[in-house]
Formats: sequence, structure tokens, C-alpha cells
Amino acid sequence: MDHPDHLRTHRPLPDVSTRTLVHEIRQAGVRGRGGGGFPLAVKLDAVRRARGTPTLVINGCEGEPLSSKDHLLLTRLPHLIIDGAIALAQAAGAHEIRFAIDGHDLVADDVMRWALDARPELRGGRLRAEVVATPSGYVSGQETALVAWHDHGVATPTASPRRVTTRGIDRRPTLVSNAETVAHVALVARHGARWYREVGTAEQPGTTLVTLVGAVAQPGVYEIEYGSPLRSLLRAGGGCREEIDAFLIGGYAGAWIDGVTAPDAPLSDAGLSRAGARLGTGVIAAVPASGCPVAETARIARWMADQSSGQCGPCVNGLASIADGMAGIVAGSASPDALGDLERWCALSRGRGACAHPDGVAGLIMSTLALFTADLLEHARYGRCEGCERPSVAAVPGAGVRR
Ligand code: SF4
Repeated sequence: MDHPDHLRTHRPLPDVSTRTLVHEIRQAGVRGRGGGGFPLAVKLDAVRRARGTPTLVINGCEGEPLSSKDHLLLTRLPHLIIDGAIALAQAAGAHEIRFAIDGHDLVADDVMRWALDARPELRGGRLRAEVVATPSGYVSGQETALVAWHDHGVATPTASPRRVTTRGIDRRPTLVSNAETVAHVALVARHGARWYREVGTAEQPGTTLVTLVGAVAQPGVYEIEYGSPLRSLLRAGGGCREEIDAFLIGGYAGAWIDGVTAPDAPLSDAGLSRAGARLGTGVIAAVPASGCPVAETARIARWMADQSSGQCGPCVNGLASIADGMAGIVAGSASPDALGDLERWCALSRGRGACAHPDGVAGLIMSTLALFTADLLEHARYGRCEGCERPSVAAVPGAGVRR
């Protein structure tokens, strides 16, 4: 949507005081849509309290391979993201906005540059903006990795600074906010917190974008109200094409829920927590009964192990052992203690990295162990099943995806 169309649809951002804007963002209770679900107001307050002029980074890297919601927003509604960034910059007191986009997402990069060219208020004045191409990778879009990319040219997560809100880019307070998150800020700035809270739950107000993949009639990106049941999303997606064995909720660092109980699960972090899941990056993958969640998990575990930035022993060694263990189970060549080994490696990896990458993998494996014990034991004994030969619905980059 170009800028004139955008203005016709949404009207210009209202001219409100910074105090009003901060108040509305706090009251709205916007939570991050990049995976962590952290309250935006907490980050905003930290940046506002910190010493120095802040930098604002809009994170459009979308490192989760199954997610396409940020790409969709960046390419279809770039001006909504830019509006949200301008409002958030005003609230934070930032004079500089960086739109961080995966260097391989050439379409999003092009569209954002084209959209910024149509916004003279971001050129040469008090507020400047630029598009920054970042390396691809699961962990390179993390907050500390984006700071390290800017400061040292290496997009790897770091243990220090722990909080980029006080010491980030160029040692200045840095507010990193997901692209979808700032699109919601643009709506809060226009319509206010009360309007925003009319849908969703008390803890997670508003709507969110989810990427639905797998054995559904119409895979794609859907906007849902937080707290609405998975069943209504499946209906919007044209229903399931086959009987569903299980849903992977939250992407590669997510958790499995069985296909029978999942449709009733409310799509919010609180609603999903009963099943040990979180909405995370908003990915929902439906694995049919003719597929194999064990093989899907093994593929994901290997890819995630390869995504380690190689800095922390428990992550490098732990995730490699987990990936080898899962591969051994799928191949039928695992030791009799294979499931116990997986549990032990998860315990040894969890919380032991400079970032949460090993925690995400450990969470996925523990969820697999809990839901698919019998399937894991059967694979460990007899090797690959028929479902292992079916195309993947949660395919890792470089492999074919059945959609
Ligand atoms: S935990 Fe893993 S991905 Fe995170 S910084 Fe350490 S080695 Fe890198």
C-alpha cells in the first residue's frame, strides 16, 4: 500500500504529546510479537530512564523459518510499521530508527526503502530512519545480536550487555521492537488503549498475526484475537485436509499439543500454558496422522543445532548431542537409554547459554518426550515409519515443504 492509500485508509498519526503517547502505550498493554511476548511498556520505560539518547531498532528479521507474518506486514503495510516506529521513537525520545531486515529478504528490503522515500519527515530532520540488511539465521535477529552486528559487524548473541535498553548500539540505550509490535503501536497511537483492549485477553490484549502451515486447506497468515480457540483459526484456514495427529505451536522453539485437545486451546500464552505451550512467534503447524512428528522434531533439532552461534559449550555440545540422539531414534540405531539421554542433555543445556537458544530446543524435545513417548520408543526399536517418508509440514530451510 503506498502512502496516499495508507493515509486514506488509516488517516495521519494524531499530533499528541509524548506523555499521552507513553500513557496510551502503557495502558494498552502491548506485548512483543517477536516470540518473547515481553511487555513493550517495560522496555519503553527502561529506555526512557536510561542515560543517553536512545536508538530504536525495528526488528523485521523473522528468524523463525515457518513464520511469514513480518514479511507480509513489511511488504503489504510498510507505512503502518513506519507510523508505529515514529510513534515509538517519540515515546522513547529516539532520534534514529533502524529497520533491521534479513539481507536475503530482498522484497521486504526494497519495499521498506521505497516506503521510507515517501516519508520526508524521516530525512534530514530531528528524526532519521534507515533500512539495515542483517545476516540470515535463527539467532541473528536477537536483540544482543543486532547490537553486536551494528557495533562489531558480527550478528551473534552476547551475554553482555544483558539489557540493551540501557547499553545497546554505540553504548546508547536501545529499544528493539518487532515489526508487528510497532504496527500495533501505530493503531494504539490512533485509536487509544481502550479501543485496543476491546479484543483479546486482559493479559494479552488486542489481535495478533499467526502463520498457519501444514495439513490445512488454506495455509497462510491470519489475524486472530488473543484467546480465541485454535478451532476458529482452523475454520478460517478452510479446515484440516486430514486427521491431525498433533500441532506444533510456537515454531521451532515451540511445543506439541495433540490433535484431539488442541482445537479447544485458547490462543494466548496463558491459555496454551496448560498444555505446556506458548504462542511464541505465532507459528502453528498441523502435522497429519499420515506424517511423523518424531521425524519432524529430529529435522528441527538438527537444524537448530546448526544455528548455534558456537560460543557456549552447553549449546554447541548439548544441541549436537540432542540432534544426534533424535537422528539415532528415527534411524532405529539408538541406545536403549536414548530417551533418558535426551532428557539429560536437555537438562544440561537449558539455561546454560548466553541466550535462550538451547532453552527453546530443550523445550521442544521435552514436549516431544512427553507427548510421543510410545512413538519415540517404537522408532528407537524399529526405525523409520511410513510417516517419516512423507514430505515435511514443518520443513527446515532448504527442504521441501508440503503446504
Ligand atoms: S546459547 Fe548458543 S546461540 Fe546463544 S549465544 Fe550461546 S552458542 Fe550462541
